[in-house]
Amino acid sequence: MIYALLTPKWLAAYLFTPILYQIARFLIVKFSPDYLLPASANDPNYAAQFSNAGAGIFHGQIVNDAFCDLILSRIKQHENSDVVNQITQANSMHKNAILTNEIGLEPFISSFTNFFFKKIAPDVLPGALLKTIDSIHSYVVRYGISLDRDLGFHVDDSFLTINLCLNDGFVGSDLQFEGQRCTTHIDTLSGEHERVLIKHKKGKMILHHGKNRHYVETIRKGERFNLIIWCQNKSERAQWFDATKNQKCPDWCSYTS
Ligand SMILES: [Zn+2]
Repeated sequence: MIYALLTPKWLAAYLFTPILYQIARFLIVKFSPDYLLPASANDPNYAAQFSNAGAGIFHGQIVNDAFCDLILSRIKQHENSDVVNQITQANSMHKNAILTNEIGLEPFISSFTNFFFKKIAPDVLPGALLKTIDSIHSYVVRYGISLDRDLGFHVDDSFLTINLCLNDGFVGSDLQFEGQRCTTHIDTLSGEHERVLIKHKKGKMILHHGKNRHYVETIRKGERFNLIIWCQNKSERAQWFDATKNQKCPDWCSYTS
């Protein structure tokens, strides 16, 4: 008790966290093709494993349950540890998202994203979504009755977002898209062809332009965990902020008057 009183809170949480969790957090796991479904590991025709949902949104299944379960197991270890109270907010939109570097999976996510961009993305995505990745921001969102229940209308700080559902057993919490917009046109109405609703399911991966406006409907039952990877490019980010200052409409904005 004295020890806890004399120890800074963050250090106390670290010292009293179960030792197995501490070890697991720092084991470096890298992505390998063992985490792909057999069809993806054996068939180089990745395009056939994705569908185009319209409005620049693609979805498909290429990773296996082991990929999802590895991330889920780290989240569960994190939830069962004292570190749970030390969460760094992953971004301003979520109270319950966990950064992948807090669960020791940043190397895994980076190696997966690099593999995806080198081997899979050129077969699946249009050129506008194939920029150079300068940085990656990745986190796991947690929706549930006692977690984040929904997510309001927003755009992502990315040129491409990879959104992968990690579990089944929930109802609601669908992802609704409303079309790509620049800052000038961000609050304009969407066209019917831009409104795309995607239902999540374990292992399903959704790929979209970060500035394709979207929101998450309320979860009605269970909990949903999704891995979110924001792929960022310096010049695309600069263009976004320039457009804010100069009220220029970039060519990827799909607003039509
Ligand atoms: Zn615009």
